Amino acid sequence: MPIIDFHFHTTWPEECSPWFLEWLRSAMKGDPSEKLRQVIRTPQAMLEYMDSQGIDYTVCLAEINPMIVGNISNERVAEFCSHSPRLIPFANINPYIVADLGNELERCVKLGHRGLKLYPSYQHFYPNSHRIYPLYAKAQDMGIPIMYHTGTSIFPGTRLKYCDPLFLDDVAADFPALTLIMAHSGRGFWYDRAFHLARTHEHVHMEITGLPPKKLPIYFPDLEKLANKVIFGSDWPAIANIADNIAAIRSLPYTDETKEKMLGLNAARILGLTH
Ligand SMILES: [Zn+2]
Repeated sequence: MPIIDFHFHTTWPEECSPWFLEWLRSAMKGDPSEKLRQVIRTPQAMLEYMDSQGIDYTVCLAEINPMIVGNISNERVAEFCSHSPRLIPFANINPYIVADLGNELERCVKLGHRGLKLYPSYQHFYPNSHRIYPLYAKAQDMGIPIMYHTGTSIFPGTRLKYCDPLFLDDVAADFPALTLIMAHSGRGFWYDRAFHLARTHEHVHMEITGLPPKKLPIYFPDLEKLANKVIFGSDWPAIANIADNIAAIRSLPYTDETKEKMLGLNAARILGLTH
C-alpha cells in the first residue's frame, strides 16, 4: 500500500519572507536555507528524501501568501513536480490577487496541478463567501479536490475567524460533488465540528497534519468510524522527521486497515492513483 504525504510545503528559501526564515531557524534547529535546499534543491533530491522517509507520493503545495510565508508560485511547483509522477502539485489561488478565479484554476490545471489548497487563514476570506463560488463551481466540474487550512496557526497575520471548519458546511451543501479536505482537522478549537462535517458530508475529509499522533484517539474518540475519511500529511518543513511521524501513526491502537487508509489509501483514492 502507498504512503502519501498530503501536505508538503515546497519551501524554497529564496521565495520566503525574512521573518518566516527566522521562524524556521528555530523550528529546523540550524540554517534553514541550507536545510531546505538539501531536500528540495532538485526533484531528484526530493525523491531521494522521500525514499529515506518511506514516502511514495508527495502533494507539493504552492502558496501565494506575500504577507505571511512568501510566494511559492504555481508555475514553480508545477515545473518541479513535472519531473516525477511521485510529485503531485496543488495550486493556490489568492482571491485578492486573481480576478477570474475559475479561469485561474483552468490555467493551473493546464500547468499540471491536480488540486488546490486555499488559505483563508492568511488571505482573509470566508470559505463560504460567494466571491469564491465560481472557483468551487469550476473545481466541481473539473473534479479538482480542494484542501483548506482549518484550525489555528501561530503565524503573525493569521485571522482565526476564517479558519472555522463550519464554513465548509455551506460549501459542501452547495457543491455536493466537490471533494473537500480540512487540513489540520480544525486544530485547536474545532475538532468536533470537523468530525461532524466529515461524517455528514459524503465528500468532506479530515487531514491530520500537525496533530500529535498519540493525541488522535483523544481528539477523535470515534476516528475509526471515519476510517475512509482521514488523511496523513507532514507539514514539512514544520516537522523534523516525517518517518518518525509515520511510525507514531503505525503504533496507534487502530486496525491495520484503518492505518493503511490514513497513511495512503484514502489519499490515493482522492488523487486517482493506482499503486
Ligand atoms: Zn501547512
